Amino acid sequence: MVTFFKIYYRQLKEIISAIISPPFCEHCKIFLETRSVFCDECKLLIRPIVSHPLQIDPGFTVPVYALGSYNGILKRLITAKKYSNLLASHQLGQLLSQHVAWKTIKCDIVVPMPLDWRERIRQGYNPAYEIAKEIALVREVPLKSLLTKSQDNNGSFFTVNVGLGQQLQYARKHIVIVDDVMLNALALRKAIHVLQVLKPASISILVGARSLVV
Ligand SMILES: [Zn+2]
Repeated sequence: MVTFFKIYYRQLKEIISAIISPPFCEHCKIFLETRSVFCDECKLLIRPIVSHPLQIDPGFTVPVYALGSYNGILKRLITAKKYSNLLASHQLGQLLSQHVAWKTIKCDIVVPMPLDWRERIRQGYNPAYEIAKEIALVREVPLKSLLTKSQDNNGSFFTVNVGLGQQLQYARKHIVIVDDVMLNALALRKAIHVLQVLKPASISILVGARSLVV
């Protein structure tokens, strides 16, 4: 029954979107029959890259899974402006749900990278959350917003927003942190340090695109 409503809701959303703005490919501008940021041919322009570990501390690395490097059509998808922004995040989530090596990813929970309140107001929504929502739906894994981002005089920092009483339920779970792009890994490193208080079995990073120099 839940699945039926999900499908119904999606179809309704597509119909409304098609009326508001007919779908066309953001790259080659051809009209599309179904709502999508890119046509199937343009999606093939995304060059996949292999998983590459990120060092967090000496002797501690986490795997990073990405659709590709941050350039070309993928960069365009992530920086998609105006109306298609939210759609681009959903599409990125769909691509990530299907086109990374899920057989090798250990995933019990997806955790979106948070924005602080100023960023949220400026952007209107959190792309990482929208991407994670799509992945959670397609991969049928729970989404938990376990992190909060704040700012002080020393810059941004993260806290785990789980009470002590609830922390135990995340112990020995495989956590996958989701973000749209990893350029420098500063924020992700901070977030991973903080998440370790939950004593998860593993932490992995899943991003739409990554810079190849970190
Ligand atoms: Zn196209």
